[in-house]
Amino acid sequence: MVPLYMDDSYLREFKATVESVKEHKYVVLDKTAFYPNGGGQPHDTGVLIRNLEEFPVVYVGKFSGQISHEVSKPGLKEGDKVTGKINWERRHRLMRMHTAAHLLSGIFHTKLGALITGNQKDVEKSRMDFNLEDFDKEKIEEMVSLANEIAKKDLPVKVYYKTKEEAMKIPGIIKLANALPPDIDELRIVEIEGVDIQADGGTHVKSLKEIGTIEAVKMENKGKSNRRLYFTLRGGDL
Ligand SMILES: [Zn+2]
Repeated sequence: MVPLYMDDSYLREFKATVESVKEHKYVVLDKTAFYPNGGGQPHDTGVLIRNLEEFPVVYVGKFSGQISHEVSKPGLKEGDKVTGKINWERRHRLMRMHTAAHLLSGIFHTKLGALITGNQKDVEKSRMDFNLEDFDKEKIEEMVSLANEIAKKDLPVKVYYKTKEEAMKIPGIIKLANALPPDIDELRIVEIEGVDIQADGGTHVKSLKEIGTIEAVKMENKGKSNRRLYFTLRGGDL
């Protein structure tokens, strides 16, 4: 099972072969561009097409290392040749959200020394949890403005691989306070030049200008040093 989205986030359509179907609805393909729910990024939706027949993909998850596509219509069987099509509007929005979250976490980390303790991206709004001593709304707003300033510079977002040993030498590579990389030899690195660098498995836009404008929707004080920011996106260059 080859995860095509790891090396090409912009792939919306692909051809694949059905490897297995369980309970008439859980489909595993030999390769896929569908992103499975995980790492704070929601799964893709879309369709698998066999000849002209469409099988809507309603959920995608990773189970025991395999990407499983849940289809809402039975009929697919092992060996079928299918074309997969991703709901691009949803995916691209999630890519913009994900890169925006990295941009913000880079700034929060560099400027305020904050560690990100959790995050959940979604189509309408995303949230980010972080450790920050003072709950200073103005300061948080300031960081969002700074993020928007940087987004205008149209910096490239690079995706590449490094051995775990090499990757662990990069300062700030693990910004998620509670997350250590899984037990693998090679790490996928997502880098916004000069702003943020993280080990990450998600899909990202290739340039910051695609994000548009980040808008702080709500800030919450979650007690002690835990803060929460909800943000949404406006505009954006497709
Ligand atoms: Zn990420």
